[in-house]
Amino acid sequence: LHSACLCSRDLGWAEPKSFLKGLSDKQREEHYFCKDFIKLKKIPMWKETAKGLAGKVENPKYKKDKQLNEKISLFRGDITKLEVDAIVNAANNSLLGGGGVDGCIHRAAGSLLTDECRTLQNCETGKAKITCGYRLPAKHVIHTVGPIAVGQPTASQAAELRSCYLSSLDLLLEHRLRSVAFPCISTGVFGYPNEEAAEVVLATLREWLEQHKDKVDRLIICVFLEKDEGIYQERLPHYFPVGMCSCFSPGPPPP
Ligand code: ADP
Repeated sequence: LHSACLCSRDLGWAEPKSFLKGLSDKQREEHYFCKDFIKLKKIPMWKETAKGLAGKVENPKYKKDKQLNEKISLFRGDITKLEVDAIVNAANNSLLGGGGVDGCIHRAAGSLLTDECRTLQNCETGKAKITCGYRLPAKHVIHTVGPIAVGQPTASQAAELRSCYLSSLDLLLEHRLRSVAFPCISTGVFGYPNEEAAEVVLATLREWLEQHKDKVDRLIICVFLEKDEGIYQERLPHYFPVGMCSCFSPGPPPP
């Protein structure tokens, strides 16, 4: 098998998938759809990103946890360029591709991704299914289907959005994967309000990480729009505080 096999449908998807599984990270590189991929170690941890942002939050919702601040990242850019164990796709129920991030992922991975997805039949809202990443720098794609929200989301839509993240993380652990990037699920064509979505996402990721931090290296929130970057820069410090402990008080001034 060689690179061309990943661009043709002649062999089907199963053989190229097992071929890719047998390759080292270095060997996989030549099959990537792009040259300008981004390695995990180039994606700053939240503890680094936070340093460049405005001061400390007075009453964060959660306690400062240094370890968690090394396991979460806010990254703005194209999710298809990330060399991580898995990227999450904000798919639709058919799993056969669509617009937005879904279209980008299917175009980048190539037609074998769509062929494998077809065998999965479809996916219920709030659930997730995993495939190979094919020509993506990401080894796997976790496809999840977010809720469609019109106006203010209901409690059950919020629960479905939370479930998208948790179902994806379940698959991550089941497949012993250690790094994953999430797009802003449901906030595009599916209409979920961006601010409300961010609160659901951050509470879900914080609580999940508290339980499972030893099993993963990094959870990346991959935003695409400036608006979402702003929302997460403002809200992340409430869920993942980085500021100095407020019990610190300077001693008396020098004589
Ligand atoms: P949904 O149908 O779940 O709303 P969309 O794809 O319409 O999904 O939008 C989800 C989010 O993905 C939006 O914030 C959109 O800006 C973002 N997005 C679009 N393309 C990319 C990409 N290449 N990488 C990361 N995020 C993307």
